[in-house]
Parts: sequence; structure tokens; C-alpha cells
Amino acid sequence: MLKFALAGNPNSGKTTLFNTLTGSTAHVGNWPGVTVDKRDGLYKKLEEPVSIVDLPGIYSLSPYTPEEVVSRNFILDEKPDCVINIVDATNLERNLYLTTQIMEIDVPIVLALNMMDVVKKRGDKLDAKKLEAETGLPVIEISALKTEGVQELMERAYAAAKEKREGKTVLQKSALAHVIDDVKIALKAQEVDNPLFHAIKLIEGDELEVKMHPSETRMVEEFKKQFADDVFAGDFEAMVADARYKYICAHFARAVTRSQSADTLSKSDKADKVLTHRIWGIPIFLVILFGLFHLTFGEDLLYLNSIFGFAKDIDTGNEVLNAFIAVFYSSAGISTPGVLVFNLMGFVTDQIGSLIATGLTNVHAAAWAQGLVNDGIWAGLSGVLSFIPQIMVLFLFISILEDSGYMARVAFILDRACRKFGLSGRAIIPMIMGFGCSVPAAINTRTLADEKERILTTRVIPFFTCGAKTPILAAVCGAIAARYTNINVDLLVFALYIFGMAMAVLMVAFMRQTTMRGEVPPFIMELPAYHAPQAHNLMAHLWDKLKHYIQKAFTIIVASAIIIWFLSNFSWNWKMVGIEDSILHDIGSFVYWICTPMGFGLQLSAFGWVFVVAAVTGLIAKENVIATFYVLAPAIGMLIPEWDDGESGIGAVVALMQATGITWQGLLGFTIFNMLTLPCLAAVTTVKAETPKGKFRYTIIFWALTSYITSSLVYVMLTWWWTAFIVAAVIALVVAYFILRNKGKINLSFRKKRRSVKTE
Ligand code: GDP
Ligand code: MG
Repeated sequence: MLKFALAGNPNSGKTTLFNTLTGSTAHVGNWPGVTVDKRDGLYKKLEEPVSIVDLPGIYSLSPYTPEEVVSRNFILDEKPDCVINIVDATNLERNLYLTTQIMEIDVPIVLALNMMDVVKKRGDKLDAKKLEAETGLPVIEISALKTEGVQELMERAYAAAKEKREGKTVLQKSALAHVIDDVKIALKAQEVDNPLFHAIKLIEGDELEVKMHPSETRMVEEFKKQFADDVFAGDFEAMVADARYKYICAHFARAVTRSQSADTLSKSDKADKVLTHRIWGIPIFLVILFGLFHLTFGEDLLYLNSIFGFAKDIDTGNEVLNAFIAVFYSSAGISTPGVLVFNLMGFVTDQIGSLIATGLTNVHAAAWAQGLVNDGIWAGLSGVLSFIPQIMVLFLFISILEDSGYMARVAFILDRACRKFGLSGRAIIPMIMGFGCSVPAAINTRTLADEKERILTTRVIPFFTCGAKTPILAAVCGAIAARYTNINVDLLVFALYIFGMAMAVLMVAFMRQTTMRGEVPPFIMELPAYHAPQAHNLMAHLWDKLKHYIQKAFTIIVASAIIIWFLSNFSWNWKMVGIEDSILHDIGSFVYWICTPMGFGLQLSAFGWVFVVAAVTGLIAKENVIATFYVLAPAIGMLIPEWDDGESGIGAVVALMQATGITWQGLLGFTIFNMLTLPCLAAVTTVKAETPKGKFRYTIIFWALTSYITSSLVYVMLTWWWTAFIVAAVIALVVAYFILRNKGKINLSFRKKRRSVKTE
């Protein structure tokens, strides 16, 4: 089968085209570095099906980061039948830089000028014929987003793939032409594939290349001597780059005629003046983030009820109707979109739950079967399902920020603020992705060139609360708000999210001072122009997430719920018993004292062990925490007189508060422990795969210690406020120590440098 590769700069629209061609829903984001691994699919609208491979974005074929190596190696080693070079036509010159390098490889190539819809809208003109003549490559104007020109592109690529093509370089008129020829002939004699490409990379001094061809390297070194006095002082990488750009300016710039008004650009610039402002950038980000949490978790839309106080519960006399009205409007106020879908889902799961329960009673199912289905499977499942719509609303808002281009700015703003702490903007991108799911976020760390930065980033990614942990926050904060009515759920959830982010920055700073010392890599990222989020992209992204959560709910979560139900209903000698005599009770009671400093250990009454059990099931998948609460709460609730099984969702935690006497401080300790401790199994294995050998066990220790110590401190400080002074004093001492030591360190390394200069 023929194999076509999509190659191009980051953010040029490769994945959008890939999705259009293959009908898949890979993640598209309006920021560089979203695709970090290659993926393939099928295009079926030609004479024969063609395999399409989406490669990570690259600016050049001299790679620095692991993800760039993926692209380069694919084109060189896997020998695709055609490379479709996607070029962002709104940014032609910069994109063609990569083209001039791909051209040097002996592979059929077609140029896809993407984003032609934008070019046309701006009134710019592109001369494809001229480009075709200059490059000798087929040039096709397309819009991946609007699916324009795509079929023609594929037909031209198909035709190109049937012919052989030899590499060509734009450097043949430069001062380097001779040496390129000589090295190329030498390499060809050794039957090296793509001799022209390798010759030029060798002359550039590309590390990989120099290692592979030592004998030619000597020849190049000899030749280079005559350039020692050149403007580039013998820096051949710079010299080659300069020659490429000169060629592009001289030959390709004429292919574009710009209309006068570069309107869209200036609009983006104007927005950036405000959104990336030195001082206001971060407050604006926080306000936007808070707005997002308010719309997702707030029970009182825009705090209208808090201000005007008009809301009340409506009583129609019909219970189901009352419940249905309360979905939209209750004594708390008008529901925000997130709470609305949460309530709606709660309403639906309640109805289904009672249908199942009556159904089972009517068919006279055995008591254990009723228990297993109602209190095991359905309780766990509905607990997780009831939060899914709300998570989707949160993701919708995050995707809008991503696709509009704002997230790229967030990385930029945070880079400026966090660089002092040893955190670079490039590392912030995978961290922000962690708001979705830690797994792709950990994979995304491949975009980081520095190994230490990669390790510390994978360690703190879980601190960015992922979608699966969101239900824990929502349920706990909801329960706290239900018992202490003067607290806003949205504010509390927001505070916890911010707490996670602050912990990430703090721990990065700490590691940078201790085990992970080193330079913070510079941050260079182009900020893509803002554009209106594309409904198609958003839906594709949400659908992907939704599938993921539903799959998880019906597999891992149901399985875990069954196990938990079983362990909480049977005794060691296989008899069905009450929860207080169950296997789970014994196991839980055996270990739960460990959690005492965090506020959910020995200070709780009889059923205090449910929290540690929930946290342990959360190590498989974080949704399990809530699912476990749901399975265990009814059994415990039956044992307490004041148990009210009112509100769906949050009710389970409220019941547990009543049953165990856990305080709000203890609940926050519990939540923070879950936020900071080992992420779910999938994330742990991914991080393990992305971590160099031997380092991973420290990552595990890091998660375990950070979560235990931090949640203990939070619990103690919130419970006995005066301890905050002691903690603050200790922290101040540690910070002072690092500052003083760094002052010393600066002198030290300065001296070292001087010495090494002298000896040379
Ligand atoms: P990649 O990094 O090369 O994979 O680029 P993506 O496919 O993720 O796209 C980057 C951004 O460009 C996204 O916001 C897309 O919606 C947008 N985009 C892609 N193709 C087009 C196009 O033809 N026209 C316009 N206007 N936008 C596009
Ligand atoms: Mg991509």
C-alpha cells in the first residue's frame, strides 16, 4: 500500500488535514506542539487506499527534541511514497525554510499551500505557478479546514508517488556548491541513501551526521578552514541557514502579493496588548479561569441570587416535576451551564436507578442480586456518569481557550512569571494539557529538549487537576457547601485548581534547587493569530473525551465497583454480612490510621476507613474515588438515623460526613491528597515510559511524599490556625537557606569558569 507522510511546521494544519483525509478525530489545537507522535490512517478516495501518516510539526530537519527526531527519521528511514509538505500560506517564507530542506531528500514531494481561505479573505494573492516553477514541485492550494482542494491534492500526490524524484538543493548557486557536490559524490560512492541531504547536513555540522560519517567529516573540516574569516566565522549551520533564507526571499517572495490591510494580524496584536500585558496578563488569566469554573460549577448564575435574593424552591405537588424544575432553578439560584447538565444527568440517573430497582423487585430477584446491581454496579456507574456532562462542559470551555489561541498566550505569560522559579513556558504547555488528561500531557513532554526539565514536568503534570479528578473536587466542595451554606462551590473548586498549579510551580522550584539543578531553557514560541474556535474541532475533541470516559465507566469503573461491593458485603468466610463485618471493613480499619495527619484517619468514627479505601481505588482510575463513595454510602447510611439521601451526586459525601464525622478540613486534606498523589494507573505507566531508566522510582517517592506531607500540613493548618505561623516560619527558613546558598553558588561557579578559561 502507498504511504504518504504529512510534514510541515507546527500549527500549519497537518492534523486538520489528517482528520479531513482519514475521517479521524485527532486533537487539533491552535498552538505549536500538539501532535508529538506520528499516527496513521487511511484515505480511500483514490484508485487504491493510501496510508496517511501525520507527523509532529518541525521547523527544520536538524532536530533538537525527541519529537522532531520522529519526523526526520520517518521521512529518511521509512521512505514514504510521497511527502505532502503542508505550508501555511499566510506565513509562506518561514514555512518554505523547511521545504528547502525536504527538497534535498530523494522522495516525491507535493506542496500543499494551506489556509488559502485566510489568504483569500485578506485579499492577498499567491502565484502557485511561480512557486511550481521555482521548486519543481507540484503546488496545490487548499484549505484543510474548509475541505477545499483536498481531492486535487491527493490526486497530484498519487501521481507524484508513481515517479522517482531526486533531491535538489537551493544552495547550488551559493559559495558552498562545490563542497556539497564533493561530499555528495563521496557519500554516493558508499551507497548512502539521500546523499545530497546527508552531505548538506554534514556541512552544517549536524551532530547525528558527524557521528555517522567520520571520514567525510575530515574532508569538510579541511574545506571549512578557508571560511574562518567569513562573516559567519566558520559557523556553517548559520551560513547554510542564511543561504536558504536569501534564496527564499529572492525567489519565492515574489510569489506573494500582499494587499494593504493586514487586518486580522493587527487585531490579534491589539488583543495581545491586553491579554499578554506584563502586569495584567496573569490577573486576566485568573479571571478567565475563574469565569470558566463559575460557569461549570456555580449553582447561582452570575451570583444573581446572592445579590438580589429572589430564588426559592418551587413546589408543584408532583415530586418528579419538582425535581425536574430544580434542575434549572432552585433556592440556590439559576443553574450555570455546568450545574444544569449535572442536575439533568442526576435527574436521569435517579429515574433509571429507581426503574432498575423496581424492576428487580418485581421479578423477585434474589437479595444479593438486587444488592449487586443496585448498590454495586449501578451505584458506581451512576456516580461516575452523573459527573460526565459537567466535565464535558469544562472541557468545552478549555477547548475554546485552546482553539482560539489563548492557551499559547498562557504559556507565554506564565513563562515570564515562572522562569525565576526554574520553569519554562515550553514545559507549561504539557502541564496545561494536564487539565484534560495526564496521559497525553506526559507524552507531550517529548517536545522538551532538556532531560531534567522533562522529568520534573512529568512529575508535576498530575497536579494540574485532570477531568477524572474533577468529580472528587465537585462532590467534596458540593458537600462542604451543602453543610456550610456560606461557601461558594465554584470558588472552592477554583481555589483547589489554583492550589494544584501553585504546588506544581513550588515543587519545580524546589527540584530546581535540589535534585534537578540546571539552566532553564529559553522559550521561543510563535504566538498563532487568534481565530474563532471551530465548532467542528470542538465537537471532535469533546467526542473523543466523551468516548474515553464512557468506555472507562463501563469497564474499569464497573469492575472496581463490583469488587468494592463484594468486599463490603461479604465476610472472610464467604457469608453475606453487613458492612461493619465485611472484609473491606477489616482491611480498611487495618490501614486507615496512616491517614490521621491528613484528617481522615483515627479521628473519624466507625466508618472512617472508607476514605482510605476510596483513595486506594483511585490509584486505578480517579473516577473510582467517587464510585467507591457511591457504593459504600448507602450501606453506611442505613446505619445512621439522620441519613438523608436527598441530592444526587453530592449526597453520598454528605452522608459520609454525617456517618464518619469528618470535618471540612479533613475533606480538603483528602481531596488534596488525591490531587497530588500518584495519578491513575494509565498515567503512571505513561510517565514511566517517558522517564529515563532508574529515575522513575524517585518520581513515585516524590508523588507519595508530596501528597502526604502537603495534605497533612493543609489539614493541620486549617484545623489549628495558629500552626500556620510555624509552617510559614519553616518555609521562610528553607527559602532563606536557598537564597543564601545561591548567592554562594554564583560566586563559586564564576570562579570555576575563570579557572577553566585559563587552563585552555
Ligand atoms: P498542526 O500543528 O500542523 O497539526 O496544525 P493543526 O491541524 O492542529 O491546526 C492548527 C490550527 O490551524 C487550528 O486552529 C486549525 O483550526 C487551523 N487551521 C488548519 N487548517 C486551516 C485552514 O485551512 N484554514 C484556517 N482558517 N485555519 C486552519
Ligand atoms: Mg498536529
